[in-house]
Amino acid sequence: MTITFNKDLTALNTFRMGVSAAAYAEYNSVDELKEILENRELPGPMLPVGGGSNLLFTGDFTGTVLHSCIKGLILKRDNNGISVQVGAGENWDQFCLWAATEGLWGPENLSLIPGEVGAAAVQNIGAYGVEVKDIISGVDVLDTLDHTTGTIDVEECGYGYRESHFKGDWKGRFIVTSVTFRLTDGYAPRLDYGHVREAMQKAYGDKPLIPLMIRDEIIRIRRTKLPAVEELGSAGSFFKNPYVTQEEYEDIADIYPEVPHFPLPDGRVKIPAAWLIEKAGLKGYVKGNAAVYAKQPLVIVNHTGKASPREILSLERKIIRTVKSRFGITLSPEVEHI
Ligand SMILES: Cc1cc2nc3c(=O)[nH]c(=O)nc-3n(C[C@H](O)[C@H](O)[C@H](O)COP(=O)(O)OP(=O)(O)OC[C@H]3O[C@@H](n4cnc5c(N)ncnc54)[C@H](O)[C@@H]3O)c2cc1C
Repeated sequence: MTITFNKDLTALNTFRMGVSAAAYAEYNSVDELKEILENRELPGPMLPVGGGSNLLFTGDFTGTVLHSCIKGLILKRDNNGISVQVGAGENWDQFCLWAATEGLWGPENLSLIPGEVGAAAVQNIGAYGVEVKDIISGVDVLDTLDHTTGTIDVEECGYGYRESHFKGDWKGRFIVTSVTFRLTDGYAPRLDYGHVREAMQKAYGDKPLIPLMIRDEIIRIRRTKLPAVEELGSAGSFFKNPYVTQEEYEDIADIYPEVPHFPLPDGRVKIPAAWLIEKAGLKGYVKGNAAVYAKQPLVIVNHTGKASPREILSLERKIIRTVKSRFGITLSPEVEHI
């Protein structure tokens, strides 16, 4: 266990915000986590942070940042199939690489998503037609109310599009300590999203696929679209795609018949936030040290590496205002503001 006071968080958030936490505690086991939660010297609130890739620190954090270093993979093969329990502190993409290298299908479409395994289960990360809930069987947690441990079945986690009870009703209550995934060694490529099938066909023709091939192609596609966090600070997609009423969609389509739109079962229509931001003229827009990423307008970047939280927040407000006045739609951030 390591406890540090006045911890610089620059390397612990992918926006590379130069902020600090009053205290920072790293733990290697569930018992160490319990000890930390019982330590009266540590200031509250307690905030679990993984790779800090979906967070915007809006200033110095006055509580304690908790970081899991619970590592390890336990693989089981039995009559029910193949399952692997992975420590919350494992790097998500390293887990994807491990599975693909073992020839196990499951997380390959989610390759290169930044962050750690624990947060992946909180966020219900998704990409290229797969959500992590599709391969989770259970989530091991520590309950911060009474410090008991337990496993929450995937069906009880309230998973939806980038949603879970961990982010909603249970916010702040459970700390994820490990996650169990169901994987398979039977041929199971998932190619139905966007241009994935076409890209695989182009790269490999009619060859039978292995998970590593899909992983490589997903990584190649992602690299053309998203900034590598090591090179340019960001938190990925900054805004959620808005759901609008049929009438609101028609008002936009009257002026822009080409507006991309996805009808939803409840009668609403999903419109890509990236399209709205681009049409509002903000693709590549630079404001001080912050900018709208030129290749993908859904991403706000720390353009110079020196952006302050205020500059990111000011650009966020500018985008929301401009899209609102152009289309009457209020964008809401996907990135969690701390
Ligand atoms: C370049 C880039 C591309 C991205 N692409 C995608 C994408 O394709 N799809 C996608 O879904 N997301 C994407 N993201 C968003 C992000 O990577 C995911 O949300 C990821 O799961 C966050 O993991 P993290 O470890 O960094 O979590 P953090 O940002 O540190 O935390 C996220 C949330 O989880 C909570 N949390 C973290 N660890 C625990 C724990 N052990 N127990 C309980 N709560 C915890 C935190 O308190 C916070 O509320 C992208 C981000 C970037 C920067």
